[in-house]
Amino acid sequence: MDRYDMDIVVVAPPPEHDTSSRIKEWRLKSQSGTLKDKDFMEFFKTESTKYFEFQNEMETVKCVFKESLAKEEIIDPIIEFMLGDKPAQALEKLQKEGNTATVCNKVFKNGEPTYSCRECGVDPTCVLCVNCFKSSAHRFHKYKMSSSGGGGCCDCGDDEAWKRDQYCELHLANRKNPLESNIITKAVLERCEICFSAILAFCVKFLEIEPNASMECLDGELDGANFCTVLYNDESHTFDQVIHTLTKIAKCRQKDAMEIVAAIDREGRAVVKCDTFKECNDLKEAIENQMIPHSGLHTARHSQSLRTSVLNINAVACQQFALQLLGWFQEFIVRHYLFRRTFAMLIQQKNEPFCIRHILEYDVKLWKTARTCWHRLLISGMLMEYQNKMVLAQEFSRRYATIVEDFIRDDHDHSFSIVSLSVQLFTVPSIAHHLIAEEGIFDKLLHTFYHVAIEEFIRNRTLHFSKDMASMAFFKRANYILYDLRYLLSFKPESFSEELRTGFLDGCKALIRVLNVMQGMEPITRQMGQHMDYEPEWECAFNLHIKLASTISQVIEWASSDAELLRKLYKMTVRALVSNSFIVGQAKLESKRCGHNMADCLIYDVSTQPVSIHLPLSRFYAGIYLHLGAHGMSYDSLLAETEALNLRLNPREIIQPVLCTQAMIAQVAAGMWRRNGYSLLHQLYFYRNVRCRVEMLDRDIVCLQTGASLMESNEFLIQMINMFNLLGWVDPSLEPGISQTQSDDEHVRQVAMADEFLELLIVIIGERWMPGVSRVTEQDRLRKEIIQLLCIKSYSHSELSRALPDGNAGNSDNIIEDVISSVAVFKKPVGVDSKGVYELKEQPHEEFNVYFYHYTKEEKSKAEELQRERRKAKKELVCCPPPMLPQLTPAFTSMANILQCDLFFMIVEQVIDSTLSGFGRRITESHLQKVLHLLGFAIQEELSDHYPFLSFYKSSQSIRLQEKLEKLARCPRLEAHRDFVLWTLQRYKQLQARQAPSTSLYGTGGGASTSAAALSGAAHSSHGDAPPLSSEQQQLREKEARSRLAAESRAKIMAQMQNAQQSFIKSNAEMFASELRATDDGGSMDWEDISSTDEFFTEGDEEEGAVGLSTGVACLGARRNFCSPTANHFKCILCFEDCSISSSGPPLVSSAFLQTSHVIYTAPSVEGPATALHVSCCGHVMHYNCWKEYYSSEETKEMRRPQRNRVPLNQPQNVEFHCPYCRTLSNTVLPVSEALPKMLPPAAAAAAAGAGAATWMPLDCFVELMRTLSVELKRSKPNDADFPNSQSILRKSDIVSDVAQLERSAQITEQPPLHANWLEVMNSFHKALRTAMQTQLLQPAANDEDMDTVSLAWITCSYTVQALEVYLYATQKPLRAELPMRHQSCMSNLVRACSLYSASLLSKEQQQQQRSSSTGPSSSSESTAKLIDTLLPSQCEQVAKLLDSLFNQKGCSVLEWDCFRMLVKLTFMMPNLLVYADKKAIIPSGSMFDFYILQSCFLANLTKALVLFNYEREHAKQLKRPATTESEERAMAMHEYVEGLPEKIKHNMVAFYQNNNFARITSLYEQGAVQQMDVSTTGGDDVAAAAAAAAAGCDEHELLVAMLMYVQREMSSFLRCACLFYRCMTDVEFPDSFPLEQHDRFELMCHYLGLESQLGVYFDMESVYATMMQSFAAHAKERWESLNLSLEKPTQRISSQLPSPPPRVIVPCQRAVPKLVKLFDDYSDLINSVSDIFCPNNEREEMKTPTMCLICGTILCGQSYCCQPELGKIQVGACTHHAHYCGAEVGIFLRIRDCQVVYLGRGKGCFVQPPYLDEYGETDQGLRRGNPLRLCKAAYDRIYLQWLGHNLHEEIARLNENANVAVTQWHHM
Ligand SMILES: [Zn+2]
Ligand SMILES: [Zn+2]
Ligand SMILES: [Zn+2]
Ligand SMILES: [Zn+2]
Ligand SMILES: [Zn+2]
Ligand SMILES: [Zn+2]
Ligand SMILES: [Zn+2]
Repeated sequence: MDRYDMDIVVVAPPPEHDTSSRIKEWRLKSQSGTLKDKDFMEFFKTESTKYFEFQNEMETVKCVFKESLAKEEIIDPIIEFMLGDKPAQALEKLQKEGNTATVCNKVFKNGEPTYSCRECGVDPTCVLCVNCFKSSAHRFHKYKMSSSGGGGCCDCGDDEAWKRDQYCELHLANRKNPLESNIITKAVLERCEICFSAILAFCVKFLEIEPNASMECLDGELDGANFCTVLYNDESHTFDQVIHTLTKIAKCRQKDAMEIVAAIDREGRAVVKCDTFKECNDLKEAIENQMIPHSGLHTARHSQSLRTSVLNINAVACQQFALQLLGWFQEFIVRHYLFRRTFAMLIQQKNEPFCIRHILEYDVKLWKTARTCWHRLLISGMLMEYQNKMVLAQEFSRRYATIVEDFIRDDHDHSFSIVSLSVQLFTVPSIAHHLIAEEGIFDKLLHTFYHVAIEEFIRNRTLHFSKDMASMAFFKRANYILYDLRYLLSFKPESFSEELRTGFLDGCKALIRVLNVMQGMEPITRQMGQHMDYEPEWECAFNLHIKLASTISQVIEWASSDAELLRKLYKMTVRALVSNSFIVGQAKLESKRCGHNMADCLIYDVSTQPVSIHLPLSRFYAGIYLHLGAHGMSYDSLLAETEALNLRLNPREIIQPVLCTQAMIAQVAAGMWRRNGYSLLHQLYFYRNVRCRVEMLDRDIVCLQTGASLMESNEFLIQMINMFNLLGWVDPSLEPGISQTQSDDEHVRQVAMADEFLELLIVIIGERWMPGVSRVTEQDRLRKEIIQLLCIKSYSHSELSRALPDGNAGNSDNIIEDVISSVAVFKKPVGVDSKGVYELKEQPHEEFNVYFYHYTKEEKSKAEELQRERRKAKKELVCCPPPMLPQLTPAFTSMANILQCDLFFMIVEQVIDSTLSGFGRRITESHLQKVLHLLGFAIQEELSDHYPFLSFYKSSQSIRLQEKLEKLARCPRLEAHRDFVLWTLQRYKQLQARQAPSTSLYGTGGGASTSAAALSGAAHSSHGDAPPLSSEQQQLREKEARSRLAAESRAKIMAQMQNAQQSFIKSNAEMFASELRATDDGGSMDWEDISSTDEFFTEGDEEEGAVGLSTGVACLGARRNFCSPTANHFKCILCFEDCSISSSGPPLVSSAFLQTSHVIYTAPSVEGPATALHVSCCGHVMHYNCWKEYYSSEETKEMRRPQRNRVPLNQPQNVEFHCPYCRTLSNTVLPVSEALPKMLPPAAAAAAAGAGAATWMPLDCFVELMRTLSVELKRSKPNDADFPNSQSILRKSDIVSDVAQLERSAQITEQPPLHANWLEVMNSFHKALRTAMQTQLLQPAANDEDMDTVSLAWITCSYTVQALEVYLYATQKPLRAELPMRHQSCMSNLVRACSLYSASLLSKEQQQQQRSSSTGPSSSSESTAKLIDTLLPSQCEQVAKLLDSLFNQKGCSVLEWDCFRMLVKLTFMMPNLLVYADKKAIIPSGSMFDFYILQSCFLANLTKALVLFNYEREHAKQLKRPATTESEERAMAMHEYVEGLPEKIKHNMVAFYQNNNFARITSLYEQGAVQQMDVSTTGGDDVAAAAAAAAAGCDEHELLVAMLMYVQREMSSFLRCACLFYRCMTDVEFPDSFPLEQHDRFELMCHYLGLESQLGVYFDMESVYATMMQSFAAHAKERWESLNLSLEKPTQRISSQLPSPPPRVIVPCQRAVPKLVKLFDDYSDLINSVSDIFCPNNEREEMKTPTMCLICGTILCGQSYCCQPELGKIQVGACTHHAHYCGAEVGIFLRIRDCQVVYLGRGKGCFVQPPYLDEYGETDQGLRRGNPLRLCKAAYDRIYLQWLGHNLHEEIARLNENANVAVTQWHHM
């Protein structure tokens, strides 16, 4: 054994032995028969210690087991020994022989996708792995997908799992492969046997956590630092608790502690320390003594200490190797059947340490990974072949009690316990049946359950759960037994063998024992006087019920198929019921009378004695009873048998417990149990709830129906009436005069109880869609349920399936769907937000029953209302009559008799008579309605002819029913019920009509009772008027009369009008005709026609030439229009006072939201950082002072908010608030300013307006002036005294111009008169800009001087404009399309604010004025001076640089400019520097200078487009592009235009192209180099096309056409931005000629901006344009040759993360519209694509929550402890980190495995609807339903537009505000 010194880093020594010699030695031994498994075990033990390494560095231990070396040195020799000299070849040959596995058994990892077939799967547990699914027939069937919780395995190839298509292609092919092998000879197998047993023995021995391994390796050495403290996983401590312990006790650094914890979670244990035994042991004890602080949920388990042990290093090494060995071994035996056979044979040897029994039982002693390894081995080794599976199943069953008890004591998750194998074994039908028959597993499961889970709670033969939460944990674990039970019984056998029957009955006996103690559990007693002190525990009992309910249903289902079973089970149940004393045993018998009927009743006062909701035994009886009839048995036929056993159970006793519970429920409804608190109400809720009612409410009703069919009807009714305490109500003679003495309270109660009683009676008679009660099937039952549900409202697919009980049959889904489609139609969703819903067809409405027993009160009234509306619309009687009832089965037939028994008529008579006589105190309208409903049942039952004994009509005559009904119909008080009464009468008369032929036979003397007489009597007698009208009919008549009158008068008026009109037209005929002609002519004055006439360019220089254009509107330049005055009156949304903008008045502001953004800048460019700021603004106006008040109160609120809601990232950030009016998220304000041109003094404006072209400084002079300015700015500091004023600059620039001309052109004015607070607003806006930028830079707050916040404002302005342009483009909106208010007002507020700010910024006076007015003493002129001192130089420097590159061809070239951004910066920075020394100001508002800046930038952009034009590529694209009429027209126009150009211009164009175009130059230099430029398109096509075009010597004309069209297209982004920008600046509206539908047109935009739209003009060598373009182009060429530029690529988006300088890129004229990642169309493709993805920090760990960034497509390891990068010194989740860089603090992520989309922003977040929908148009967050999902483009577009429109923050805030979102630690995402 080697020991290593602690101080040296350990390196594995070279192998001591030559491996070949070792193999030789084994072979010799093997031949002599002396080779033992001990030899190998010793080998494993000594060798494995060599590959374990650890390092102690800085308190942290790092351990590594070198697996690859161990594989080579230990495992490979074994393989060689087993398979012979050339193991690799042997394995290869074996592969060729073909795999013999016909089942897949691939074990699923956590989160791996699984597929189940809804058509073929035998039950929902049958699943396929991706590979099998893809190559199986099921992919074409209806399938479901879900993601595995880990541990299950693929069922491909299992005959019993699938009804058909059991095999995928691969496994079907494997069936043909021979089981024998030429490679695996007998000798090989013998060697394998020895090796296998050595491997198994080694692993068994060493993997156990505690004693064996350590003892083995101790060797008595207790000194030396060769021990480890190992910490194990448990599920009772949280990550944070363990991290806390580690940092506190083991002194780990936080980061290391987190790594260790992640490892513990992953592998189940981790080494915490390596040191001497003492040190290690001390640590162990310290950890164990550490009391873990209580977490929120404190259960008994949480007080336990962490599990630790001290192990010898060698022991750890052996364990690590054993894990590796097991993993390898599992893969090895998968290779061939013969290996598995050997393995199975070995582990069946009972005396070996590795026998199955031991493996099963010692599972609990292992840690997580070790367990998983064994489980996988068992699955691979034992589940592939049926015989082995059976063997394992048998052993598993035999050990079941032990391993389950171990599991319950243990605290690992179920999937990490050997118990979880049950799903593999018990779901195989033949195995399950075998186990029940031979191993008594049914009995064993329930016995174990009884013993471990409930026995301790039994008091007095009934269950009473305690309120102790601690017991819940183990109770929950015990419930897994009941899941196993469900697996076991999920298949009803075809037939029963004697053994199976016995085994099953044994199980039933155990089940009945459980039910017996559940009968009456958690009893409740009505609380009188005081309220309950505490809410009693009730959940435990209901949980038990829920877990057991499906088993009960299954048992009944099994029993129903076998008469013998049923008989025995019936007797067993009767025996249990007789022995159970709950209620029945305590009640005494008493005789009760009602009317003329007497009955013996059990007396049990529900209002004082305990009752219970839980009566599983009675319900079980009812369940069994339902099936007796099908086997020719009945209560009576079995009576003799039970009585022979001395078991007497009469019908009264059967129903008594249920009746008590019903009475209690009725009393609750009558308000008698109010003091019992909420727990009772909760219980009653669940009693009816879809999850419980199948084995609760439904069975109770069957039980009462059983009683009703077994008892004489009057007797049954007396039982009920007595239990409801209503004898006196039914028979007033019993309590004479009592109604007077009754207190009001009692009276109200009695009325309410009577109501409940009648409703229960309706339910007992009417709810018979139950197989066994009447002649219906399960499908009919389902159908009824669905109809009733759809009568409430239309349901979406998921709502509907949630509202239906789970079926037990495997493919109930399909049945449900069939039934649904038979009664309803699916309405497809209409919008993105709506779901598709099912609507009930017309016909099934007839089956509606308003008293449906599953309805809640709300559902009932909703359904009733809908039904009435529907009938009204159809002009039917407006009421909800009872439906026709299905025919009762023979066993239940006598139930129908209730409807004609004495007591029934007595009740009917009572109710109707009291109603007619004015109700009295005892009867309400509700009683009447219910009685009518019952009468409806009775009439229809007789009409159905199902029951020959039924003679309701005859009996009804004794109470003169018809007469009474007619009276009711006429009674004016009963208006509301008239239609129902009429309906009843109609049906009654139908009954009467059928009696007609026979009435004469009966001929009883009572005159009016003969039908003929009755009929005529009804029509004409007593009152002699027409039969009463229904309310509907009456309304209809009135309506008809009214509408007839209306129609008549309308017709009259129409006729008059028509006459008048005709005479008018006649007299004015000529006038009409001329008007028509005029409109025709006007149409020709259209833009398109004029712009395509070519003379117009040639005359372009002469002003009068452009007739058409000069009439249009321009906002800039020589033809400039002036803004029309717009109203500026507002109402402050805070104080509601009227206000208007004026420069002297108090400033108005509008709340705005500032965010960092990466949406449209995809790469950093030369002019600034990659991140920009975006502003949005809702446009609601308030006083600045009002806002300040509001804001400070919001701020305090924010500070007071609980810590958990605050952003954990401790960076400074702008306080968020909501617009007080519209609640839009905001974090700053923008000033609302007047239109800029109005800020000019009237004189200046007039001068500008009146001046002719000659009075302006021309463009070339402007250029010269700018060049001079740039030199001056560089030469002298602006603070210097000699900083030149505008005049001196004018002089120096040496141009012919005067000062007045300059002043006119630049619109130089005095300082703008701004209110003192105006600058304060702007400064606060600036502060917000700076803060926002800092959060992105993650830097500590820089002082004012460090950050150029002023330029930030200009950049923000240009970015916001560009973002809007892109958004409009993406939504295909032209400029003139209606802009939402928030865009419109945001833009103008921002541009105006920037413009005014630029004019006042450099003025010391302005700044001082502001400071002194704002905060008093703290402000000083000194700080103002300082601000300007620092501000000025930076502005100067920037302007100088800008001017240099624009006019002096220095620095970067047009290729690297974003021309629009440049334009905005120049506009706001340059003019006021020009006049700085004059102490004057320039307000950029559309002056000639502004126009020149635009022209310069326009020319620059134009040059860039020309230079980057690629003829070959354009040509190729042109061919591919589908031709639209619009594009064709434009092409035609362009052709004509080019043809009309003067030759000189054409020549210039071609020359420019040849000299400057890059593609042209490159293609001249080297043919292949085109691609260098051409990064956006790839592929040989273009190259080929280029070559072809070059060979053809491209046609000059074609070239020019293509070039000019290209240029126009490429200019559109710049022009659109410019249009938006200048509109806000000049307030000149877009002209009406701008299109509303089509794309914006080049000519129109140019014209609006005052630019020349005819491109030919720019190539006139005489003009300054051509000179400028030439110099731009020359610079670009030079620059491009010196630097290796590349086109901007989207992939460089996150390059800001890299510290390296950003690459030099060409900024294209037209940026690609930003897009989100393209997603797979089929969701399963997406989920499969990440099924094998690993965490980037840990290659061994699969990502638990793979999360895709939808902006860039990166897949991140979300919300996990393994990936917690640092962001600004805080550890955050991978998504938060990524979002910071990728989306500038906001991100859109798709959590792939649970199909959820998350928006993340600044520590906040929200879940939004994922873009994947199923065929019903519904999302499936968390994959709960598993329907196949497909990408919904509309839904994805919505996410896209929210992102593109910068609305994510807003959306997050909105969703968080509205919903009560559980607090999520979003930054951990
Ligand atoms: Zn598979
Ligand atoms: Zn397969
Ligand atoms: Zn299928
Ligand atoms: Zn106000
Ligand atoms: Zn607002
Ligand atoms: Zn990303
Ligand atoms: Zn990770």
